[in-house]
Amino acid sequence: MLLSALAFVVGTATAAPGQKAYGTIEVPAGSDPALSIPVVVAHGAHPGPVLALVSGAHGTEYASIIALERVIARLDPAALSGTVIVVPLVNINSFEQKVPHVNPTDRKSMNRFYPGKADGSQTERASYMITKEVVDRCDYLIDLHGGDLDEDLRPYSYWPLSGNPKQDAITREMVLVFGIDHIIISSDRPKDPAPSRYLDNTANTRGKPAIAVEAGYAGTAHTDDIELLANGCFNVMRYLKMLPGSVIPVQNPVWIENVQTVTSDQNGIFYPLVERGTYVAQGMKIGTVTDYTGRTTLEARAPVSGIVLYICAVPSMTKGATIANIGVVAKQ
Ligand SMILES: [Zn+2]
Repeated sequence: MLLSALAFVVGTATAAPGQKAYGTIEVPAGSDPALSIPVVVAHGAHPGPVLALVSGAHGTEYASIIALERVIARLDPAALSGTVIVVPLVNINSFEQKVPHVNPTDRKSMNRFYPGKADGSQTERASYMITKEVVDRCDYLIDLHGGDLDEDLRPYSYWPLSGNPKQDAITREMVLVFGIDHIIISSDRPKDPAPSRYLDNTANTRGKPAIAVEAGYAGTAHTDDIELLANGCFNVMRYLKMLPGSVIPVQNPVWIENVQTVTSDQNGIFYPLVERGTYVAQGMKIGTVTDYTGRTTLEARAPVSGIVLYICAVPSMTKGATIANIGVVAKQ
């Protein structure tokens, strides 16, 4: 059975060399219902590395999901060296029910419970299956996100510092060739694979170079954001020599060394005063919160000088919720 020996299998998707196969990663029922997560395997006609592309952990970060739909359509296994695993929509219940941030089934974020648990709630079981079927099978990984329904976000990526200089050099190249020009230097992710929490970190703590990227905002699916993400995936394939052609890395990236979160200490109505991508000085007023009769109860100010990576996109404000994330530009 030569063909099956050469086939690449993820979940129910079995792709022979030169083929694209469609299937699902089946998450069995436990204390709550089962989940079928769609997966596509593009198994190249030529040998090469395995790249995993995952989006929709947050099912209303639409630009990232549509970007991977386009990647699936454009992947040509006949031209590919290596294998691409695409999981375009992890959090199907979030997408279908239009619930931001969490899986409505168990109210957990689907990018905080890696490497998952076989006997946990649905998010933990799904994370366990993705670790097993996707992370364990790949050599490189990209996790795609964007501003959620309530986040007015400018595109950025994360360069994760793993502590392994060789791996960090590869992930640095990956973020630069991906093509987003604002890059957060992420040094605070767990180093232990057991509580890896995030998907990209689950791959990195297992020695597989992985990055996370974000584009899109507030329920939109604009072409520029979608193409930024879709093209970035193909740029990384060229960098990994999975596709022919050269790729030019970002020439003058803005490195961000620290992200400060501004939160609200009360419920109310939020009025932003700045937009995503704005440069703000420390102490500058970035928005106000009023009570439900219009009386100002909070003036939100930038705790540091930096770039508004995202700001709350909707009037609904709750105690503890994020007003804005400000990125501090790294000193050269
Ligand atoms: Zn997300």
